[in-house]
Amino acid sequence: MAPLVELQQVSKRFVKSLDVVSWVANVLGANYIAETVQAVDGVNLTINKGEVVGLVGESGCGKSTLGRLVVGLLQPSDGTKRWQGERVADMSAEQVRAMQLQAQMIFQDPYASLNPRFRIQQIIGEAPLVHGLVTAASQRDYVAAMMAKVGLDPSLIDRFPHQFSGGQRARIGIARALAVKPMFLVCDEAVAALDVSIQAQVLNLFIQLREELDLTYLFISHDLGVVNHLSDRVVVMYLGRVVEEGPTEELFAAPQHPYTQALLKEVPTLQVRKKNFVAVAGEIPSPLNPPQGCHFHPRCPRTGSVTGNRCQTERPALRQIAPLRFAACHLHSTPSSN
Ligand code: SF4
Repeated sequence: MAPLVELQQVSKRFVKSLDVVSWVANVLGANYIAETVQAVDGVNLTINKGEVVGLVGESGCGKSTLGRLVVGLLQPSDGTKRWQGERVADMSAEQVRAMQLQAQMIFQDPYASLNPRFRIQQIIGEAPLVHGLVTAASQRDYVAAMMAKVGLDPSLIDRFPHQFSGGQRARIGIARALAVKPMFLVCDEAVAALDVSIQAQVLNLFIQLREELDLTYLFISHDLGVVNHLSDRVVVMYLGRVVEEGPTEELFAAPQHPYTQALLKEVPTLQVRKKNFVAVAGEIPSPLNPPQGCHFHPRCPRTGSVTGNRCQTERPALRQIAPLRFAACHLHSTPSSN
């Protein structure tokens, strides 16, 4: 069976236009050029139906941009995206609309993503009505059922977002996404803004809904405990590139990429919850001017173990290093195999 989502060599660049001063200066002979941020750089990613894939990395590594590319909120600058085996670029407008309904995103800040002037009935019920999944007559009952499904009291259906707690607003965001009957959810730091005890409740809700509704998740988080708790497989990103990928238990037990090793070294057991990434020595470089070769080389403690100056000059490819395990590091390749 074809994967649910597949990205091949997908990149996303954002170009910052010149301001008026630079533009006028160029007219007068200066040579300012527009800045380009390479947010996602040649990523291959496969998500199979029913899987929970955790996407981790430091802030600014491109994981939110990758999530938006996967769900279709952004279009790639380069590369190919397939949905259930079909190239999205070859789909009709109707097929793209159907895909966009089946793939929904849950955002980091539920309060910011809920219109404060709308009642919950409208927030959850608008999209299914617009897309013809419910009639106006059945909308209220449908929304009440959705609220019950995510653990909200349906009698609160006429309230506004500000009348709910943070945990309840997270549940409203989940109900809104589920209301269009998706098969795939991209959750971008979906529990990051919640207290630890509420986080656990919402994570358990995600697990319960996965079983009930046969959902597939891409779970984006900087919290290793969250990813360890939820994911079947983990993908690690650094500065726009995937640097390691593998089954969760194996990757946490024996990380193979120096970046993943640095991230995980202060997580002593798999039972640890709510453990944020420790700072890897050094600053993450600017994506406006990323280092040549391996992006991680200015911070990597293992560059001395690689012959020559490959780390500084040659991009390491993501290679299979064991069954289901992949890493992008010259330590796992020889110069002649490149
Ligand atoms: Fe470190 Fe070199 Fe491997 Fe990059 S390729 S992670 S710099 S050893």
